Amino acid sequence: MDDFYPEFGRRVRLARRRAHLSQEALGRLTGMNRTSITNIEAGRQRIPLHLLVSFATALDVEPMELLPGGPPAARTVIGVNSAHSLTRRRFTVAHELGHLRLHPGRPLILDAPARVNFRDHIASLATDREEIEANAFAAALLMPERLVLEAVGRLLTAGQHTPEKLAQLLAEEFQVSEAAMSYRLINLGITT
Ligand SMILES: [Zn+2]
Repeated sequence: MDDFYPEFGRRVRLARRRAHLSQEALGRLTGMNRTSITNIEAGRQRIPLHLLVSFATALDVEPMELLPGGPPAARTVIGVNSAHSLTRRRFTVAHELGHLRLHPGRPLILDAPARVNFRDHIASLATDREEIEANAFAAALLMPERLVLEAVGRLLTAGQHTPEKLAQLLAEEFQVSEAAMSYRLINLGITT
């Protein structure tokens, strides 16, 4: 039982972050002050049973999910359209992983088909900060700068290539679309 309250606190903290709530906000929702929330999350303060329900309601989880030994918070599922090309599916997964990592708390990650197309993203959603960040994450994950620079060096040592040919060869190597690779090369300052 020594671990009970620290583990409860960890679960509260995780759920609170997922819910994008500050300790203060959670305190307001449960009728406690911020210091109490800090102490509860650290496992130093024990709460009465009825507050377990208040916490679960405020955090939008089942009470069991806050209890040690209870089920973990809901799994995350990333869906891809199996009719899409491999490169597009890879980019979609990387893009959604970006959302997961950078924008926790989004209840459901499900981008509409048009939103997973690289060019559509750039063209139509250039003002959507989260989309731009998810694309940047995907680009860095699938086309790491160091590896791209190495590959470019190798290809250019072997012979001259137009920017289009370069993007095509690299796209094959990194299993991304040519559009994604062209954009990456421009972003890295390799082509213009
Ligand atoms: Zn997105």
